This record gives sequence, structure tokens and C-alpha cells, in this order.
Amino acid sequence: MHDTQHKQLIIGAGFVGLGIAQALKAAGIPYDQVDASDDIGGNWHHGVYTTAHIISSKKVTQFTHFPMPAEYPAFPSAQNMVDYLRQFADHFRLQDHIQLGCKVILVRPIAQNRWEVTFDNAEQSVYKGVILCNGHHWCKKFPDLKGRFNGPIWHSKDYRHPDQLQGKRVLVIGGGNSACDIAAEAARVGAKSILSLRESVWFMPKSFAGIPIANLAQPWTPEWLQRLMVHSIIRLTFGSHKSYGLPKPKHRIFAKHPTLNNEVPYYIQHGRIAPKPAVDYLEDDHVHFVDGSIETIDLIVCATGYKVAYPFLPPELQRVNGPIVECYAGSLLSDYKGLYFLGWRQARGGLGSLIAAYGQIFAQLLKLQDQLEIPLGLVFKDLGVALPKTHLSDPQVVFRQLRLLRLSFPWLKRKANQMDKKYAHFENQPIVATPKTKTVTVY
Ligand SMILES: Cc1cc2nc3c(=O)[nH]c(=O)nc-3n(C[C@H](O)[C@H](O)[C@H](O)COP(=O)(O)OP(=O)(O)OC[C@H]3O[C@@H](n4cnc5c(N)ncnc54)[C@H](O)[C@@H]3O)c2cc1C
Repeated sequence: MHDTQHKQLIIGAGFVGLGIAQALKAAGIPYDQVDASDDIGGNWHHGVYTTAHIISSKKVTQFTHFPMPAEYPAFPSAQNMVDYLRQFADHFRLQDHIQLGCKVILVRPIAQNRWEVTFDNAEQSVYKGVILCNGHHWCKKFPDLKGRFNGPIWHSKDYRHPDQLQGKRVLVIGGGNSACDIAAEAARVGAKSILSLRESVWFMPKSFAGIPIANLAQPWTPEWLQRLMVHSIIRLTFGSHKSYGLPKPKHRIFAKHPTLNNEVPYYIQHGRIAPKPAVDYLEDDHVHFVDGSIETIDLIVCATGYKVAYPFLPPELQRVNGPIVECYAGSLLSDYKGLYFLGWRQARGGLGSLIAAYGQIFAQLLKLQDQLEIPLGLVFKDLGVALPKTHLSDPQVVFRQLRLLRLSFPWLKRKANQMDKKYAHFENQPIVATPKTKTVTVY
């Protein structure tokens, strides 16, 4: 890569990275894009089980300006998703800017507000800015399991195909979407399927009256009304948790990322999935649960989620607090300019419609940043914008916020220019690459 000093670098060519690349290209912003994988598509290419289907529906998951093929079902498969993302990249001619098999191992600020990027082949390039689209479904989170187990303990990320469950007594730990998919698959092909839920969850059907749940919310629908709608739908389809031998969840609907799954309640009532409370301890091939029950198990799958992680950033730039990245307006830092955190939030709806809306605004923000000396995040901070308190987001709220930001952009620009004078001559503080910095780079 040559003469990159005036370009942005996008790390990751998954759903988010591709959407952002297209927005930058449309806005005439020069950039390069790299991905560690051998192809584009991110998780949908290399990170999900072959039988996965989206839960968020075709309508809300497609990029608004590039609809999925008409023949796609309402809930496209992982393969559909990969094909769609390839079509998207081809249509907007994004491939020319993408370098595959290129892993970033270190990103650090250097003098003159530039960013030095080191790749795993030891090459280095200098960029004006770095846009982090490295995904948040890869850094496995495991539960703290007491005792010793004879068989394999996997993370849901290691599950690829139903053959891996064939004839096995499977324990799945977790209550999210992957947990339910894997428990349902074990109910079909395994000898036994046990689903351990530390806390009960709200199972939502994927559709109601033939309409995907994700399509029901309208831009004007407040969250309390969405919650009421979903609650009524759950009552009408599944009824109460008691019918499945489960306690009522302690949290309100939407207080956690929703679990959309029709199959778990179905298989529980067929006796093919046995729900259990939390695991107490493991002993040889036995699993003891906190209610005193014991099961003989061949395979444990921990579908216990992921950590948000940026292993290529030096400690000074690690801004992750649990599942939250502490940045302004979804992506900006207040003390460094030119580093952008994208795609770390967990939206209830599909990604495409959100990225399509955010991408345009983000391109405008990048152009505004070019005109300023201070970090744009500092402008938002000074205007009283708070750091995020949750990683969960209601797409309707995001759409409303983006509309407001679009309308108030001339005002934001004026304020930013005024503030720029106040903090004149801002420079990013360079970070020296120490051996310690370099060890943070395992991916
Ligand atoms: C089972 C499952 C079901 C899901 N269902 C839905 C759904 O219904 N709807 C929905 O919208 N989302 C769903 N998701 C979320 C899914 O992760 C997103 O749709 C999407 O893949 C996220 O895109 P991304 O670009 O942020 O991350 P990814 O798709 O993970 O892409 C990130 C890319 O960055 C690359 N990368 C990472 N680090 C580096 C590095 N250091 N150097 C170079 N390249 C790097 C990776 O190779 C990867 O290709 C689901 C996820 C799972 C696991």
C-alpha cells in the first residue's frame, strides 16, 4: 500500500465494514480496507454455523438502498447473507479497495495526527484515520464452571454443523439466539438436549400472523408500546412460562438482547429439550445443576456470548467497559481524532438498515473532522452528550437520533468551529510502541 497518509483505513470487510466502505466511496472519501480472512462477509463467511438463519428479517437486515434478492425468504440463511454481501460489494465496486488475508496487529497514534498501522507480515502504513469494523462476535466468553468434565467443552463459536451433535447427549449453556438454535438442533439429531438457563428469558416468536416480529415496529413506535406489543404476542403464541416448566424472567422485555426462537418452546413441550437452571458443578461425565438434578452429558456447548475487544490497540486506547465502548455519537473519542469504533452496539433490528442510515452521517462527520483540529468527540462531549450506558439499542430510537443529527448538522458544524478556536492547536498524543504494546495483538 502506498501513499496512504491522506486516506482512512477500514479494518474489517464484514457487514459493517462493507456498509461503511460504500458510504465513504459515495461521499468521495479516500480509503483502504483490509480483512484478516480469505474472503469478505465477516461472520457470515467464517463465523456462524452452516444452518444459521438471521433472526432479524430480510426487510430490516438488508441495506435500505440495496434490497436483498426478491427470491430470498423472510429469514435468509447464512449462505444467502454471504451471497448478498458479495453482490453488495460487486455492485458498488468495493473489492478493488479490499486487501484480504491482511491482519492488523497494531494501531497507534504517531506525530502530526497520523496513525501507524502494523500488519501481521510486519509491514507498516500510515493513515489519517482508522475505522474499526472488526466485529463483536469472535472473542469468546466462557462461564466459570466448577469441577472437572471428561468430555469436550466448546463455545458456540466452535459449533459449525449438526453432525457435531449427532447421537450425543448435549448440554447447551445460555439463553440467547445461538443457544436456542444449538439446543433445537441437538433436539433433532442428538441423543439428548439440555438447555441450562441461569435466568429465564423471554422467548419471542420470529413471526406473528406471518409478519416477522422485527418488521412490526414503526419509526414512531415508542419502546413502551413495542414492549407491550411483544408481551401480547408472547402471551398469544407461547402463553406463560409455566406451561414450559420455566420461571417468569426477572428482567423486562428488551432489558437484554431479545431471544427470537419458536423451536425451544416447541421442543420443550415435546420432551426433546429439557430446561434446567444454572450448572452447579461438573463431575466426570455428570453435570450437577443448582436444583440438585444431575444429567449425564457427552458435550457441553457454552453459548455464553462474546467480549467486545480491540486487541490491536495499545492500553491507552482501550475504551471498553464490559459490553460498552466509551465513545461519543456511537464512534468518536474526545481525546484522540482519527480513531472510530463502529459496529460494537447490539441493535435489536437488522444491521443493514442501521448502517445505511449511519454510514451517510458518518461520512459527513469524517469530512467535518477534516476541517477541525480538535477531535469531534470533544465537540459532542462539550455539548453535553453523555457516554453510552448500554450496548443495546432500539433501532427506532437510533433512526430518530440520526434524523435529528442530520437536521441539526449545520448547527453542529457552527458549534464545532467555535469550539475549535477555544481548544486551538490540538494534537493527538503519540503512543510509543513498546514490547508490551505489541503483545496485546493476539487475534
Ligand atoms: C448466530 C448469529 C446470528 C446472527 N443473526 C443476526 C441477525 O439476524 N441480524 C443481524 O443483523 N445480525 C446478526 N448477527 C450478528 C452478526 O455478527 C452481524 O450481522 C454482522 O456479521 C456483524 O458485522 P461486523 O462487520 O460488525 O462484524 P463481522 O461480521 O464479525 O466482520 C468483522 C471482520 O473484521 C475482520 N477482522 C477482525 N479483526 C481484524 C484484524 N485485526 N485485522 C483485519 N481484519 C480483522 C474479521 O476477519 C471479519 O471479517 C448474528 C450473529 C451470529 C453469531
